[in-house]
Amino acid sequence: MKKNIRIVLVNTSHPGNIGAAARAMKNMCLERLYLVEPKGFPCAEATARASGADDVLANAVVCESLGQALDGCHFVVGTSARSRRISWPVADPRQTAARVMQEAQQGDVALVFGREHSGLTNEELEKCHFLVHIPTNPDYSSLNLAAAVQVLCYELMLFSPDENSQLEDEARDLASAEEMESFFEHLEQTLVELAFLDANHPRKLMRRLRRFFNRARPDKTEMNILRGVLSAAQGKKLYRTKS
Ligand code: SAH
Repeated sequence: MKKNIRIVLVNTSHPGNIGAAARAMKNMCLERLYLVEPKGFPCAEATARASGADDVLANAVVCESLGQALDGCHFVVGTSARSRRISWPVADPRQTAARVMQEAQQGDVALVFGREHSGLTNEELEKCHFLVHIPTNPDYSSLNLAAAVQVLCYELMLFSPDENSQLEDEARDLASAEEMESFFEHLEQTLVELAFLDANHPRKLMRRLRRFFNRARPDKTEMNILRGVLSAAQGKKLYRTKS
């Protein structure tokens, strides 16, 4: 299951943090590191801080965008140094580990970490099913990036499924993160065409709809139905049958 878990670091500024994250991962039996536009990688400092976890660094996948790093993932968890982020569901590391291990039975899953100075953008957070916040001193809540990676990887290491709460989700062929993204684009476009959504005053409609559909976890067949409904609403189906 751990082979299905990706640790994604977005726009990391300090190569040392990349190395330290690789070390934290390997200590906890995780090996799939994805780096979205790292500033300065590969770098001797990263290798030094990896302290023997060179294989994790050597196999790290460098990506141009978060979307690319999430390609093929059906479940995505964001991390936040702030405990209260309006509009996003937030879990603690233990709950997160249980959910991530459960989802990893069905395919690739990602844990996404933000920039040292500014964390993750709203646009990036929108790609996440929920956020995890490591409980901290409320007046000093931001951990070093690699320390945050360590805590979450440790929880994944500790997780052992309780026999009574056997992970019961039958193997559903869930829509991938990429399929969910193009669905959300299609949904937004359709709502604008239907004049239900004012593109100039979108408010939080799309964010709320994202939360709703992410909670529903549609599988590929359900996703096809939803896409069909949108196309029908856009009049495409009508157009196609006519031509
Ligand atoms: N000033 C930034 C802090 C970023 S810390 C902000 O307010 O968002 C760099 C990264 O480390 C974060 O993006 C997150 O991935 C991780 N991190 C730091 N502290 C964390 C915490 N308490 N819980 C979860 N992740 C944390």
